[in-house]
Amino acid sequence: MNNDLIIGSHVGFSSKNQLVGSVEEALSYGANTFMFYTGAPQNTLRNPIRKEYTDEAYKLMKEHNIDLSNVVIHAPYIVNLGNLENFDFSVNFLKGELERANTLGIKNVVLHPGASVSYDRDTSIKSIIDGLNIILDNNLDVTICLETMAGKGTEIGKNISELKTIIAGVKFKNKIGVCLDTCHLNDSGIDLTKFDEYLAEFDKEIGINYIKVIHINDSKNEINSHKDRHENIGLGTIGFDTLIKIIYDERFKDIPKILETPYVTENDESKEKIYPPYKYEIAMIRNKQFDKNLLDKIRNN
Ligand code: FE
Ligand code: FE
Ligand code: ZN
Repeated sequence: MNNDLIIGSHVGFSSKNQLVGSVEEALSYGANTFMFYTGAPQNTLRNPIRKEYTDEAYKLMKEHNIDLSNVVIHAPYIVNLGNLENFDFSVNFLKGELERANTLGIKNVVLHPGASVSYDRDTSIKSIIDGLNIILDNNLDVTICLETMAGKGTEIGKNISELKTIIAGVKFKNKIGVCLDTCHLNDSGIDLTKFDEYLAEFDKEIGINYIKVIHINDSKNEINSHKDRHENIGLGTIGFDTLIKIIYDERFKDIPKILETPYVTENDESKEKIYPPYKYEIAMIRNKQFDKNLLDKIRNN
């Protein structure tokens, strides 16, 4: 199992049984890791972590060889450390999020760095650095992983240089990392057929050892579109072969690869029935062979 590909997807974290439900969902997809929001991604209402659920989830993970150190939390996307008006709220929420991660034993929390909204980019980047220096706690075994962003609107973190500036300003370097997102990289202007060139530059500027998580998504849009709309694996502009190369890159063999591809609707008109794609995408990735019947299989599950 140790040489197995570390692959999973976004899953739920319900108030019903918290981490237990997340593990069960991941297992139903044939995954050996997973990522979740500790509540709804679009709000910041959170329940306390219940120890009985965590203990039960650990037992289930042990039985199925899921390594807790590969499990990831995604911070809600409405939190914006780059917005000076909401700064205290965001800082307090993220402090709580790191404590929840620590209680659950989860090491990596993915964060969208922020957006400059009505400020200039340098002011927002400074605000993000200040926020991280308040939030990051050297006493917790939790790292914040800044996600590479598509550059939609005023998003910060759309290139190596912005991430480098933020990381350079962070005091606890062992508590900060990066989450690559393939859809976002494509939409930000990176040609993923030349991924080695990107990685060489990343290594020179930031250091490849900062990469802790990879989000694997195809993209609905052309390179440099700054759109951020995920597509199912092999059905977008990045394509199956390019994604497979990244997924199986030896340099990433010890870090989690997480799918955030869209649920599939019944047909083009009806949005009543939707199906998670992950079981079939994970199977296809393990086979290293694109399945042209992917969507039909997802719908007929
Ligand atoms: Fe994200
Ligand atoms: Fe992502
Ligand atoms: Zn995205």
